[in-house]
Amino acid sequence: MSQEPGLSNLMHEERRFDPPPELAAEANLTVEAYEEAAADRLAFWAKQAERLSWAEPFTDVLDWSDPPFAKWYVGGRLNAAYNCVDRHVEAGRGDKVAYHWVGEPADDTRTITYADLQREVNKASNALVELGVQTGDRVAIYMPMIPETVIAMLACARLGAPHTVVFGGFSADALATRIKDCAARIVITSDGGYRRGSASALKPAVDDAVARCPDVRNVLVVRRTGQDVAWGEKDVWWHEVVDGQSEDHTPEMFDSEHPLYVMYTSGTTGNPKGVLHTTGGYLTGVTYTFWGIFDNKPDTDVYWCSADIGWVTGHSYVVYGPLANGATSVMYEGTPDTPHKGRWWEIIQDYDVTAFYTAPTAIRTCMKWGNQIPAEFDLSSLRLLGSVGESINPEAYVWYRENIGAGTCPVVDTWWQTETGAIMISPLPGVTSGKPGSAMTPIPGISADVVDDTGTPVGKGEGGYLVVTEPWPAMLRTIWGDDQRYKDTYWSRFEGKYFAGDGAKKDDDGDIWLLGRVDDVMNISGHRLSTTEIESALVSHPKVAEAAVVGATDDTTGQAVVAFVILRESAGDGGPDVVQELRDHVAGEIGKIARPRSIMVVPELPKTRSGKIMRRLLRDVAENRDVGDVTTLADSTIMDQIKDGMSTTSED
Ligand code: ATP
Ligand code: MG
Repeated sequence: MSQEPGLSNLMHEERRFDPPPELAAEANLTVEAYEEAAADRLAFWAKQAERLSWAEPFTDVLDWSDPPFAKWYVGGRLNAAYNCVDRHVEAGRGDKVAYHWVGEPADDTRTITYADLQREVNKASNALVELGVQTGDRVAIYMPMIPETVIAMLACARLGAPHTVVFGGFSADALATRIKDCAARIVITSDGGYRRGSASALKPAVDDAVARCPDVRNVLVVRRTGQDVAWGEKDVWWHEVVDGQSEDHTPEMFDSEHPLYVMYTSGTTGNPKGVLHTTGGYLTGVTYTFWGIFDNKPDTDVYWCSADIGWVTGHSYVVYGPLANGATSVMYEGTPDTPHKGRWWEIIQDYDVTAFYTAPTAIRTCMKWGNQIPAEFDLSSLRLLGSVGESINPEAYVWYRENIGAGTCPVVDTWWQTETGAIMISPLPGVTSGKPGSAMTPIPGISADVVDDTGTPVGKGEGGYLVVTEPWPAMLRTIWGDDQRYKDTYWSRFEGKYFAGDGAKKDDDGDIWLLGRVDDVMNISGHRLSTTEIESALVSHPKVAEAAVVGATDDTTGQAVVAFVILRESAGDGGPDVVQELRDHVAGEIGKIARPRSIMVVPELPKTRSGKIMRRLLRDVAENRDVGDVTTLADSTIMDQIKDGMSTTSED
């Protein structure tokens, strides 16, 4: 087999940030963990499982006799909701705050202790039983960011009824597809939620979806906004069936491999996949990583992850990871710019948040708005920052560290996926000297590598494909109802290895840099260029806040780089020469080969509803094709705006 060259390694970054000494001195996860896990990986994972309460101990850590179908913690029995809630109350921590919930309207807040959570989850569990929910039944949840969403998830987990949470911004179509795909019989929703200063309806989309899903028996509706809703015979109010229930419910213990939930991927690359996570391994993975990567000290920390619960980040790091650790979290209903662009920073100030976890897209948006906004707030409670969802451009990382983290907070750039369930590659906040833009190394217990086309690990300074080389507890077990797609998508590209679909490189120290989707790789005059480094070069220009690059067919070079950029507000319209300036900047930063053939200044980029850039749509624009499937796009008018402006700014 002829060996294609790996991905080009274009950028070199010299900046390093050591962990603050106080954090390092008290860090939960220390450098010894790497050695311990390397010496005996399964013993390491057995030890991590001790963070949970098991009703029945497991007999084997891993059964990998039928790859790629893994069984973790074989024979163990546990209940996920008991682990997240009851055991903390039993240990005398019932008065501890689980969530400081902040609604979008001013002064609309709720404080929910672990004891409150236990009462509410028990009542909701009893209500679901009354509605006929049995162990193994699927329940769809389509909700805003309100406490009942967490309560509903935990009630399902308590009953062993796998939930599938569908992001509240999705259309009726997307909801119906997901309800059908996993044959949910109950849908939990609300009348609406607050977004951008007004009540936005959810129930009409459910009505529309349920009309197409005759097998749905009931729709359980939380009253959040009080807006008018149409009412059908399947509909029941949450307050009518939940509020009067008994506050007691005895949890059943389930097999470690009992399904916990099905989560559909973001759909960045196309058709979303229904990823199945099970109980013992998943909960071990999120409990360990939340403790270790966010260095959580439950007695003193206030943690906030801004992700919506409709995404895997919300599942693992708003719900299961924090709760299993008995942590105190902030949960916020609304958007970062309502009623003003400093709302997030105000919440951090008001609740003395110590650790904040968000996505690069949000950081770049704040960068676009300008430094003066966070500067108005006291963010001195923060001691750790995190990022997930895309590669964080070095410039955005440094901006985040300086403007939010006072130049002292470590930034953990965490690489993981819906499929991996928990963080896989990340710096350790008390150990690693961070490099802006690098996710650094696999965390203790995880084995990952960068390989070439033949599956051979690449050398230092070379690029290729990211793979996970050993099974891990929080790994997906299959794609719901489609074992073959599970094998084909993840386990067929490289023998015995999990293929993540992402490009990556190892730098001269062997640290890992994520380079973007393999599907987005460009071939320019025989050089294989990934998207991330060119985008980061653009973002390193002081006028640029965000950038997306794609490869478009080109007569002379095979493909040519086409870039789309959003300018910082401080740059105004960028001036008459901005396009040429940016092309030269890229050439200067990483070489002529990467110089974009054309650059278009745009007001927004097409993003999924979880905020990831959808480059496949931009490729359609760059190649003058009709734009493909836009159902997972957050704002469908953006593609029209981009197409309309396209002809005026190309430079050849
Ligand atoms: P689909 O698989 O349906 O196309 P998706 O991959 O966007 O959707 P997610 O599981 O939400 O769905 O996203 C995981 C992907 O996000 C990773 O494969 C990677 O491309 C990107 N990602 C997540 N964290 C990071 C990170 N820290 N650095 C770089 N990329 C990241
Ligand atoms: Mg994916």
